[in-house]
Amino acid sequence: MHQSHMLIDGEQVISLSRKTEIIYNPSNQEPVAEVAVGSRQDACLALEAAKRAFLIWSATSCQERAIILHSAADLVRKRVDGIAVLLTLEMGKPLRNARMEVLSSADVLDYYAEEGKRNCGEWISSSHSRSIVLRQPVGVAALITPWNFPVDLLAWKVAPALASGCTFVAKPPSLAPLAATEFVRAVIDAGLPAGAANVVHGPGSTVGAELVENPISRKIAFTGETETGRWIMAHAAAHIKRLSLELGGQSPFIVCADSDLQAAAAAAAQRAFSNMGQICISVNRIYVAQEVAEPFTEELVRRAERMKIGDGMQTDVDLGPMFSRMLRERTKEHVADAIEKGAELLTGGEEPVGEAYERGYFYRPTVLDNADHRMMVMREETFGPVAPIMKFKTLDDAIALANDTEYGLAAYVFTNDLKTALSAAERLEAGGIGVNINNVVDLQAPFGGWKESGLGRELGRYGLEAYLETKHIRLGM
Ligand code: NDP
Repeated sequence: MHQSHMLIDGEQVISLSRKTEIIYNPSNQEPVAEVAVGSRQDACLALEAAKRAFLIWSATSCQERAIILHSAADLVRKRVDGIAVLLTLEMGKPLRNARMEVLSSADVLDYYAEEGKRNCGEWISSSHSRSIVLRQPVGVAALITPWNFPVDLLAWKVAPALASGCTFVAKPPSLAPLAATEFVRAVIDAGLPAGAANVVHGPGSTVGAELVENPISRKIAFTGETETGRWIMAHAAAHIKRLSLELGGQSPFIVCADSDLQAAAAAAAQRAFSNMGQICISVNRIYVAQEVAEPFTEELVRRAERMKIGDGMQTDVDLGPMFSRMLRERTKEHVADAIEKGAELLTGGEEPVGEAYERGYFYRPTVLDNADHRMMVMREETFGPVAPIMKFKTLDDAIALANDTEYGLAAYVFTNDLKTALSAAERLEAGGIGVNINNVVDLQAPFGGWKESGLGRELGRYGLEAYLETKHIRLGM
């Protein structure tokens, strides 16, 4: 069985308490790995190591840092097969998708290797002085991440942190720490000074809390649930820490009457069901113009029924299991609530039948018609493969419905009219708007949420800025 150690001060270590836990495969409940489980004391050791290493790493030039980050990207690519298998075994996603995730994390390292070189200051002339503005690394960063994209979402933090000159302590999700730890191990092996990159395993309530509360960390970058983000924000306030929060979503998908219905249905199916709907920018609510509702819905159902479900290690599956029993129970609860309040179940709504599915958390992609805003699926983040459909009469109605949520991460609109597209995009309350596309993530562009979906931005040059402090040096003339 794979053994996963913590990474502290350049060493692979077990925890001070020697505690370990077994990670199980959500496809079949078989044990995958034994993991060292840390405590607050282990987190402190890692923070202290990162603090010592900050003196060394922050003094390197951006060119030196770029060389190491590019080497790290190469190493991640060389190790992609091993890391991707761990990712599939620990969280269930098909191996093909796991490989894509790991390779895209290597691209993030390459991108920030170069973006770090563009950290330029300013020169300002005044009547009695000259001002130099420097952007300097904020210090030790605590990076706390969830299980749905445990490698990619960590790479979004690791790469800009290191490129800016910060050191870090990462806390991967307790139930899926394996691939993330191997990713950081590759980054360390590329030649980082000891202690510049650390990984501590263990519960969010202790290890995560220590990273948030300990004054050594000057910056918290967190992806996870809105409730956890709220807790982190409150506790980070004690030391006025810098915060990046990528939180939950409840993304609307608007299909206008003039849109390419085949393309819209394909895009909706993919974004509602891939990763079993366990994506923060998943399509959660579909609003379709009433005059095209029938053909759109038929095509969506057809696509849902065509998706192959199975163990992620099989080469031909589109969808793996859900991550946990709890998530599948919540999905069932949301579907039952919708049906009770008048929604029509068009497909799915149950576990697939057969021996291959008996021991895993499988669930069929589900389409519900006649949904409305009284239903949990339309208000809460289901984090399951469910696509509820509601018809609309006018675009104004659709936008009002789309904005009727406390979340604001992503929103999508499909139309062939430029004016409609721009009008909708300007009025939708979300950090990312997909027009005729079902993904608002682009490595070079800002990603983040409005309202209770988050604070700050990752990716692009914005991602680097999140790890920099501004300093004004005034020269008297
Ligand atoms: P959680 O908030 O439960 O956990 C995320 C991470 O935070 C885990 O490592 C967890 O540790 C840790 N944690 C938990 N409590 C604390 C605490 N008090 N202090 C510090 N750390 C803590 O989220 P999930 O893992 O359930 O992830 C799913 C959520 O993530 C969804 O809401 C989804 O929308 C959101 N998400 C947002 C994205 C975005 O970019 N906006 C992208 C992807 C997901 P442990 O594992 O031990 O509980």
